[in-house]
Amino acid sequence: MLDFTFTEEQEMIRESVRDFAQKKIAPIALEMEKTKQIPEEIIKGMAELGLIAPTVSPEYGGQGFDAVTAGIIAEELAKADVTGSIPVFYLVQASWGHIFDKYGTEEAKKEILPNVTKGKWFLGIATTESDAGSDVVGTRTTIRKEGDHYVVNGEKMYISGVREAYTRGGGHITIAKQNPELGAKGMTLFYLPLQSKGIIPTYVDDLGREGISTGGFTIDNVVIPKHYIIGEENRGFYIVHEGYEYARGLISVICAGAGLQSLERGKKYLKERKAFGQPLAKFEALQFRLAEHYTKLSFLRLGAYWALWTYDQEAKGKATRFEVSKAIAMAKMFASEWSNAAIDEVMQWQGAFGYTRECPDQAAWRAIRSFAWAEGSKEIMRVIVSRELLGKEYISYK
Ligand SMILES: Cc1cc2nc3c(=O)[nH]c(=O)nc-3n(C[C@H](O)[C@H](O)[C@H](O)COP(=O)(O)OP(=O)(O)OC[C@H]3O[C@@H](n4cnc5c(N)ncnc54)[C@H](O)[C@@H]3O)c2cc1C
Repeated sequence: MLDFTFTEEQEMIRESVRDFAQKKIAPIALEMEKTKQIPEEIIKGMAELGLIAPTVSPEYGGQGFDAVTAGIIAEELAKADVTGSIPVFYLVQASWGHIFDKYGTEEAKKEILPNVTKGKWFLGIATTESDAGSDVVGTRTTIRKEGDHYVVNGEKMYISGVREAYTRGGGHITIAKQNPELGAKGMTLFYLPLQSKGIIPTYVDDLGREGISTGGFTIDNVVIPKHYIIGEENRGFYIVHEGYEYARGLISVICAGAGLQSLERGKKYLKERKAFGQPLAKFEALQFRLAEHYTKLSFLRLGAYWALWTYDQEAKGKATRFEVSKAIAMAKMFASEWSNAAIDEVMQWQGAFGYTRECPDQAAWRAIRSFAWAEGSKEIMRVIVSRELLGKEYISYK
């Protein structure tokens, strides 16, 4: 039986997040483009409402929310923050908090997760390197066991939240090669605190989502205690993809939410602005574009929630890992493209104002563009769906 409704509890959560996001975040969103940081009172407010890594179990400070509920929060944040900074701050910690909660050691969870959910520390993900992005097996960073601890060497690049973890506290779930000769089967995942001796951060100047940093760090003989290993040694490649799937589902909802919100602003403008003696909304050429973008984004929104629901079904034993990968990749495949196309249209409707920094939609456009790469590129989503349809023997790069 099909049921497209959310539970009563989920509706209440949506209501309270919307109230907070529209009152506190929406009015200050564009300021983050200049200050380059999320205001401390917003982080505090999110923590008080339980919106930071709410996927973490209650015993470690979270709410124990499932993926669909995490998606509801992501959507409301995306509708309020045109810069995309707070949605990124949220989605990264919700996804990787979930993975830490599921695979981390008891000792590490007690030590780290409550600081994350309280908004004191930042928890990120670091797989990408200058020479290895989509191809995670191309990772050059290494981890080796020495007695009762591990030593890590290498570098990571294009990582969200480097400044946040380096200056506030916290760190990144990081992947490295433990047994390079084993390829994907020789990679280990671990928690890397960014204040560790041997970490040197660098920053990149992103086009958008400027309230949260993107950067990299070199890792020079950094010592990691054994309780920071996430899951088993040499299982990192597989665990990290679970986290990426979670994040991709949330990103798909964010793209739909941001795009639909932009269309709302566009609709208002079309009705108010007059040309040739009538409101722009009277021109069918523009009406049809509105109808098309709205339809695409509504399907994207449904597809994104379906993908997150599929993720939740796996935990109940009702979906396989492969069904989850395919559903999530299908949702993310068009997410940034369709959202960017809708936002671009809204900028176009606004004439020359659409090309100024005062126009909220240009900030949304730049933010959404990042999701064509972040947490798995739109091409890699096609690779995954094709692999699931045709079989592994047809993977082009093998
Ligand atoms: C703003 C931003 C934030 C990010 N944050 C993080 C983060 O927090 N943590 C992290 O680890 N990474 C992060 N990334 C990195 C992101 O995950 C990578 O950019 C992405 O995985 C692609 O890797 P790459 O940039 O090295 O491109 P490459 O892997 O070098 O790919 C280059 C191009 O080739 C395409 N391509 C590659 N392989 C194939 C194939 N088999 N078939 C068809 N096309 C292919 C890609 O889709 C891409 O268009 C972030 C990126 C951005 C832009």
